[in-house]
Amino acid sequence: MLAMAPHATWAGPRPAPEGMAGPPPIILISVDTLRADHLSCYGYARLRTPHIDSLARGGTLFAEISSQAPITLPSHVSLFTSTYPFANGIRENAQVLPPGAVTLATVLAARGYNTAAFIGGYFLARRYGLAQGFQTYDSPFDARVINGALDLKRPATQVLEGAEHWLERNSGRPFLLFVHLFDLHQPYDAPPAYRARAPESEYDQELAYVDDSLGSFFDFLAHLGLDRRALVVLFSDHGESLGDHGENTHGYFIYGSTLHVPLIFHWPETANSKLETRNPARVEAPAGLIDVAPTVLSFLGIPAPASFCGHSLLDLAKGGDSPPRDVYSESSYAHDKFGWATLRSLRRGDYQYVDAPHPELYDLKRDPAELHNLLPGQASLAASYRERLTALMATYQSPPGITGSTATATVPGAAENLRTLGYLEITSPHATLNDSGVDPKDRVFEYKRYLLAGHLARTGKAEEAAAEFQAILADDPRNLPAYIELARSDVALHRFLDGASRLKAALALDAHNVEAEELLGDIWLAVGNLGHAAAEFRQLLAFAPQDYEAHFGLGLLAARRHQASEAAGHFRAALAANPRSAEAHYQLGLILEAQNDKTGAVGEFQAALEIAPKFPEARRELDKLKSPNH
Ligand SMILES: [Zn+2]
Repeated sequence: MLAMAPHATWAGPRPAPEGMAGPPPIILISVDTLRADHLSCYGYARLRTPHIDSLARGGTLFAEISSQAPITLPSHVSLFTSTYPFANGIRENAQVLPPGAVTLATVLAARGYNTAAFIGGYFLARRYGLAQGFQTYDSPFDARVINGALDLKRPATQVLEGAEHWLERNSGRPFLLFVHLFDLHQPYDAPPAYRARAPESEYDQELAYVDDSLGSFFDFLAHLGLDRRALVVLFSDHGESLGDHGENTHGYFIYGSTLHVPLIFHWPETANSKLETRNPARVEAPAGLIDVAPTVLSFLGIPAPASFCGHSLLDLAKGGDSPPRDVYSESSYAHDKFGWATLRSLRRGDYQYVDAPHPELYDLKRDPAELHNLLPGQASLAASYRERLTALMATYQSPPGITGSTATATVPGAAENLRTLGYLEITSPHATLNDSGVDPKDRVFEYKRYLLAGHLARTGKAEEAAAEFQAILADDPRNLPAYIELARSDVALHRFLDGASRLKAALALDAHNVEAEELLGDIWLAVGNLGHAAAEFRQLLAFAPQDYEAHFGLGLLAARRHQASEAAGHFRAALAANPRSAEAHYQLGLILEAQNDKTGAVGEFQAALEIAPKFPEARRELDKLKSPNH
């Protein structure tokens, strides 16, 4: 296979080949969950990644790039908006980037660029708001079970095929193409042919597959001449711990295993290149993904919007000096999930400072695996880093353009979907949970036990799961999610009243916990205690007025009392919260049918079947209404 053509020289701007005038196209490739140190161009020895490496030849490899948050949506939002998670409010998956965001895509679209994105994984689905500015945004995920598997990801070849079809029709005028490959994210399912390439690591098997897929894609780019015309930027949103520091995946800690990501710019050969002759193959200066969007704009000669907080890397790419940067990262996962401390870090030069109840300081040059905490020995150095971290947060707390618009909206149904996926993703940051001052690194055992218990629950071992959750609570009686998960196991075991008492304990810790309140209402509904159910759902609406579960539950209760218009109102409100609920369409259809609104009822049953084609009750009602005898 052809690789990206290495460029022999960078002798300044040259005339563009005929028919290739205009600003260069931009191609961004996000290889989700890719550790920098697993690429051979970053020194990995156990697997070769020749195609990704080929980008670095004739391009610039940034050796020390940190993700601003080791979680998919927050990291991509930070990259595209060039803002920090603490300022833009997107700290977890399943939150929604509010409309009106200023992103690299909106800026380029406003400049007349054709914009398209091809998405490989559910966490960047259109509903989460990153689609802003993209005229095409291909993210066909529903997080439903299809053929026994969850519709969470699609393979690189499929994503890249979509991108190729789009390029065939659209590569003639300036464009921004964003490609997102999700193969390295669990669960692994690389084609069997790749097992031999890395027999001991399913992660590396996926990487070999992704590298090959990119090889074919680069061939395609070369076929269109885009290897020479386009600026191609490859990066990852975060790494993967693979057991480092006791973490298997990503999101919980902020060590290099998940923060250190690849970033490679493959510059176009043609005009407009602002690069001088000294074009280093490798830049060692630490920087962040937050700097990617400003770099692209500065390369194109487009001024960065006022809201962008990152800084162009172009000077560094030209081989010039640039003042050392403060590179900030964070994870509020342990806080949002368990009420433990938020982790924040500052990289500057060779040192990485981690702000936590028991802070850490590492010399990454000598100790890249971050095994030797220099504290308490280097206390004054750590204090100066802490000061810088605080100052950075104060400076960028409210960048112009996103004044105070902290995004806390979440997508309806996302909690259920994500729980089923087993990723323990947080869908509603527990803003009301006080930081208990617990250091996540002191609770990694409990965290893993929690993951194990969740796995047991998802694989039908409710009894064992319940025992694990009880053991977690015996050690940590303030573990709110353990109460909720224990209640779920109780429900699976038909121990409804036990479940209800766990949820009351959860609500005593966080009175506005949507998940606990929803489940408690559902339990009372299941055991036929309709008065209690109505009371819980109303309680829920008091602090979450648009809650789907509450409106749906109250709709069912009103329908039982034959209060048709009240029921219809609640089902409509449920649908406003979650338009993709086949169940709510069906229930509304039944109410309309009872009210003799045949047209309305047919519309609702049809809507239900469009969402869930195998919904036998909806099919039966629709057939009944459409039969000539009706
Ligand atoms: Zn990711």
